Amino acid sequence: RGDFNQKIDYVFKVVLIGDSAVGKSQLLARFARNEFNLESKATIGVEFQTKTLVIDHKSVKSQIWDTAGQERYRAVTSAYYRGAVGAMLVYDMTKRQSFDHMARWLEELRGHADKNIVIMLVGNKCDLGTICAVPSEDAREFAERENLYFMETSALESKNVESAFMTILTEIYRIVS
Ligand code: GDP
Ligand code: MG
Repeated sequence: RGDFNQKIDYVFKVVLIGDSAVGKSQLLARFARNEFNLESKATIGVEFQTKTLVIDHKSVKSQIWDTAGQERYRAVTSAYYRGAVGAMLVYDMTKRQSFDHMARWLEELRGHADKNIVIMLVGNKCDLGTICAVPSEDAREFAERENLYFMETSALESKNVESAFMTILTEIYRIVS
């Protein structure tokens, strides 16, 4: 798909983590293929998708890993985190619990990943604004305290999805280049 014969300067592995049903797979589908599915099924089997883009005149292949229905605490294996240079911690803005679980996902991530990993907190489903259960201020505070990037997205409306991935990939590029 367009990658043939293309010179790749960098490959960046980025992992998606967070509770089940927060929209990880749809964020990835939106970013990688510009697709969205309202009846998205739980992901089965380890899966990643790639998208090649240009940052600072270099060709960067992003390899985005999606959890395979291992969203229960401690079920994600260390192989999933291995080699990751970026991570998106995703919660559902309409489900307080998914935000409250961010601290332990972060702890798990930091226990497994490289210490220079770039992490972004992502509040997804911002299209459901009227039933928002997580004030942006709470999330921003948590992100600042933990030194994370922060963005609110909608995979459904394609809002901030590209921008969230580009921010994390550009920051990774800045670190490794
Ligand atoms: P995952 O378990 O974290 O991978 O979550 P999925 O990507 O499978 O999404 C779970 C459900 O939330 C599906 O029904 C999606 O269609 C829905 N969903 C995902 N992203 C959004 C979004 O941005 N807005 C809305 N309204 N629904 C979403
Ligand atoms: Mg999924």
